[in-house]
Amino acid sequence: MTPASIALPLIGASDLAAAFLFMYGLKRMSSPITAPSGIFLAGIGMLAAVLASFLYVFTANPAAQSFLLTNVGLAILALAIGGGLAWWSGRKVQMTAMPQMVALYNGMGGGAAAAIAAVELFGARAPAPTQLVVTVLGALIGSISLSGSLIAWAKLDGVIKQPWRVAGQQYVNLAVLAGTIVVGGFLVFGGAARALTTPQLIALFFVCSLLYGVLMTVPIGGADMPVVISIFNAATGLAVALQGFVLENPALMIAGMVVGAAGTLLTLLMAKAMNRSVGNVLFTNFGAIPRRRAGHTKGSLKPTAAADAGIAMRYAKTVIIVPGYGLAAAQAQQKLYDFVKLLQAAGVSVRFAIHPVAGRMPGQMDVLLAEAGVPYDLIFQLEDINDDFKATDVVLVIGANDVVNPAARTDKASPIFGMPILNADQARQVYVVKRGQGKGYAGIENALFYGENCNMIYGDAAAVMATMIEAVRGLGTAAAA
Ligand code: NAP
Repeated sequence: MTPASIALPLIGASDLAAAFLFMYGLKRMSSPITAPSGIFLAGIGMLAAVLASFLYVFTANPAAQSFLLTNVGLAILALAIGGGLAWWSGRKVQMTAMPQMVALYNGMGGGAAAAIAAVELFGARAPAPTQLVVTVLGALIGSISLSGSLIAWAKLDGVIKQPWRVAGQQYVNLAVLAGTIVVGGFLVFGGAARALTTPQLIALFFVCSLLYGVLMTVPIGGADMPVVISIFNAATGLAVALQGFVLENPALMIAGMVVGAAGTLLTLLMAKAMNRSVGNVLFTNFGAIPRRRAGHTKGSLKPTAAADAGIAMRYAKTVIIVPGYGLAAAQAQQKLYDFVKLLQAAGVSVRFAIHPVAGRMPGQMDVLLAEAGVPYDLIFQLEDINDDFKATDVVLVIGANDVVNPAARTDKASPIFGMPILNADQARQVYVVKRGQGKGYAGIENALFYGENCNMIYGDAAAVMATMIEAVRGLGTAAAA
């Protein structure tokens, strides 16, 4: 019995286990209740796939053993550095900075796929024609995903504050893409002529691909970034799957395809939630900060005291809470839930309404509320609760803005026109908690705030919730005295 005859079945079994765990883990991630165990299981799958990769060393012929052992040493070093950095950054990252982290990790996935392709293309081994096509395609997609994701990170992190647009940009982008495809085509079909220029051509191909990733992302506005990251996520999955084919590694192929399919579905769902087609997101100038015509919004802003609003909710029958990005920024989820428990103890029916793009990443509000221990049966998605606002006594909008902006329904000139929104304006009374006159992510005025039925409570969400809790508790003490 040789080491190879033991290693090969083990590799096969590990790959099968990894594939099953990826898919089963992903299935469990579709509900907030089962998501933590889904993430854990998919992580175990990843571990199985990594361990299987190390078993390949036993399948090599003895002449190549010392070369492979050097590679194993390098792989362990890379795992230690990458794993250490991921562990440290994962623990340190703020909830509000998660989208940036997702963009970075996604870019690294694309970069890893492109690096595998580079090794294949620059390497001595002459790949078969089909493999060459797949390698070049994977290199193109992986490189675009790497540079595009880095630009997405810079936009989300505020390093790039405005979309960069110039006249004729789309034509330049098209020319760069066409040039990249021509160079890639030459790498594949250039035959004897390419033998002389291959290293330079390969380098040119990577430079053009990376450049295209930058050029296609810089003109896209901030409000479209969630969809863009999701597109790059799907692209990274595809690039990884293609490189799995090149390396004949089934676990890599399956993981890539699962990520690619999940990313594609998420892209379509998010585009639907913003009422935009994917082509429209990529090729139009949505997300520019428009100059609002002075005096366009009717009515006035009517500030009120947090304590009064808290007491009004205590005496309401039905309350719906609409959380948004500001709740995460203030880390006020625990205080909010403490307040909700006080209302419930007083017999008020309280529910949460979640918009699919509330916050800065899909599912951020669900995670935030789950973190505070809010039971899942209090949390409703847009389509399940939107008809109930008109029969609701009070809506508390806390740190949300764009997702309750009625301009999406009525103002054809608005950049968010057509986006489904939560019908908060239809409630009898609306309280909006925010720090001041800050705009939402889309940078536009919100007519809801000026409505007859709306009062503003200015302050950091955590401080406002503390005041509301105190006011409602004070009622109980006063009644007892
Ligand atoms: P939003 O429109 O960005 O509004 C957030 C509001 O929170 C702001 O108006 C801000 O006003 C307030 N705020 C900030 N910090 C606060 C604090 N500490 N305490 C209280 N209020 C605070 O948020 P949203 O309604 O959740 O809408 C999400 C937007 O982000 C959409 O336009 C969406 O397209 C976009 N987006 C979504 C994702 C995603 O996947 N979910 C990703 C990227 C972008 P003040 O400054 O006056 O306090």
